Amino acid sequence: MTESEILNIFKSTGALLTGHFLLTSGRHSDRYFQCAKVLQYPQHTEVLCKMIADNFRKFEIDTVIAPAMGGLVVGQEVARQLNKRFIFAEREDKKLSIRRGFTLDENEKVLVCEDVVTTGGSVFEVIDIVKSNNAKVAGVGFIVDRSNGKVDFKFPQFSTLKMEVVSYLPDECPLCREDIELVKPGSRKIK
Ligand SMILES: [Zn+2]
Repeated sequence: MTESEILNIFKSTGALLTGHFLLTSGRHSDRYFQCAKVLQYPQHTEVLCKMIADNFRKFEIDTVIAPAMGGLVVGQEVARQLNKRFIFAEREDKKLSIRRGFTLDENEKVLVCEDVVTTGGSVFEVIDIVKSNNAKVAGVGFIVDRSNGKVDFKFPQFSTLKMEVVSYLPDECPLCREDIELVKPGSRKIK
């Protein structure tokens, strides 16, 4: 799949919106991305995760792990395509851990999956979980890299798309100057 084909899927499903958006950071942006909107559709999830699965097909992998919630659908689908076990880590008291009786064996080879990486915080936490169980990280696969090339997990990593984040302080926002309506994604219009 080409970059423009992937972008078209994101746009057609409403995952990628263009306009004038208030981000949770308080900054303004001309683009807003919500990966869950594309993962609503199993056929899109399947083709995007196939890119990740294909990239790691020749790697030695026993298990796929993902952080909840965002990574669940991606990890499950990548594991299905690679025919491997899938487990997830979930947040309790702000810290990710594996629960529900999930275990990792010593030297088990683990592929970490996620939907979107911005700072990579959740993935780094999952990598720590794998290491603390004396298992091995085989690689990290995710749908969208929004880190502007900044995140390096120090393991083979693959994303289906790199999408740069451009945002502005409200005082410096060119969209405000053009008097374009400001929208807070996921809620009613605020201005
Ligand atoms: Zn603005």
